[in-house]
Amino acid sequence: MTAAATQGIATRGFAVENKDAKFAPFEFARREVGPNDILVDILYSGICHSDIHQARAEWEPAVPSIFPMVPGHEIVGRVAKVGAEVIKFKEGGFAGIGCFMDSCGECGACTSDVEQFCEKGCAMTYNGTEMDRTTLTYGGYSKHYVVDQDYALKANFAEADLPGVAPLLCAGITSYSPLKRWGAGPGKKVAVAGLGGLGHMGVKLAAAMGAEVTVLSTSPSKEADAKKLGAHRFVNTRDDEARAVATGSFDIILNTISAQHEYGTYLSLLGLNGVMAIVGVPPAPVSVHALSLIAGNKTITGSMIGGIAETQEMLDFCAERGITSDVEIIDPSYIDEAYERTIRSDVRYRFVIDMKNA
Ligand code: NAP
Ligand code: ZN
Repeated sequence: MTAAATQGIATRGFAVENKDAKFAPFEFARREVGPNDILVDILYSGICHSDIHQARAEWEPAVPSIFPMVPGHEIVGRVAKVGAEVIKFKEGGFAGIGCFMDSCGECGACTSDVEQFCEKGCAMTYNGTEMDRTTLTYGGYSKHYVVDQDYALKANFAEADLPGVAPLLCAGITSYSPLKRWGAGPGKKVAVAGLGGLGHMGVKLAAAMGAEVTVLSTSPSKEADAKKLGAHRFVNTRDDEARAVATGSFDIILNTISAQHEYGTYLSLLGLNGVMAIVGVPPAPVSVHALSLIAGNKTITGSMIGGIAETQEMLDFCAERGITSDVEIIDPSYIDEAYERTIRSDVRYRFVIDMKNA
């Protein structure tokens, strides 16, 4: 595959050359370590369904796909070098990198700790550019990353836990933020729709927050796992009777579904004043009948990852409670197969690429 920029720190990763391509080794360069930067030797990198959507150009034209693409925004690694002004990290410590790697730091969003909504557009960890709007970004399916200390997270976990920590950087925060915002906790009935990477973190986190948790799934084979993850109930959404019993039951639905589905069906499961927080991004628009919101004063809302401070809060919440993701650790040669299995909902519950031996 064509090599990218050669200025800076030479590294390698795994990239797709176009939306139909398979992953192949890719040589490129990271920027030199600046005074505020850290160099991270990547140990583990999770596979998020957003990687698949973008590698296969499913979100175009809303989100153009830039090729060659090295996906990966659930990154944990060891700090290999720190810039002269770095105080947050020490060489040898563990750091996490999530979905964005920089932002302007000055606008209303950045100064309100929601850098993901930076008014200048934050720098996505891959499939984007750095804030110079020129340097292309390549993600975590690679050996190294260079990032400003303010956009890296402290991962205060044991080394053995790190494979399960990587998915917290996206699946964890994307579930945590709306659950917290909408008051998941004791006395609240929370349903998690879709038991994949985000969904299984949603179950663990909502249960840890003290909510009564139900899984809404199209995969009856996941029922036992759902209970082990902390769910109190399981509804097979393809079973009309089971769904009918659940009508009007929930205060909050965390909707993590990645494929086309009827929002109205899920809205009918909300009780009075219920809220469905959408985090899953099906490639095509979904229509909602106004009455499915009007009847019961229901709210449909979205949520996008979380800012740096909230991501750190989530990591610390998980570290204190021993919460990590359930993962299947794979070799980079398995990425294509892992994508196929994820699309088939055959992931229990996150594929994580072992980059340290890659
Ligand atoms: P995932 O691991 O593939 O999980 C998605 C789950 O959706 C599947 O396991 C399956 O669960 C369910 N599902 C799949 N097809 C379905 C269908 N046709 N009808 C109903 N349910 C279906 O994906 P993920 O990594 O958790 O990501 C989920 C979605 O969130 C993706 O669209 C991703 O791009 C998006 N995302 C958004 C954000 C954000 O900031 N908002 C961040 C990260 C990811 P069951 O087998 O239980 O039915
Ligand atoms: Zn993600």
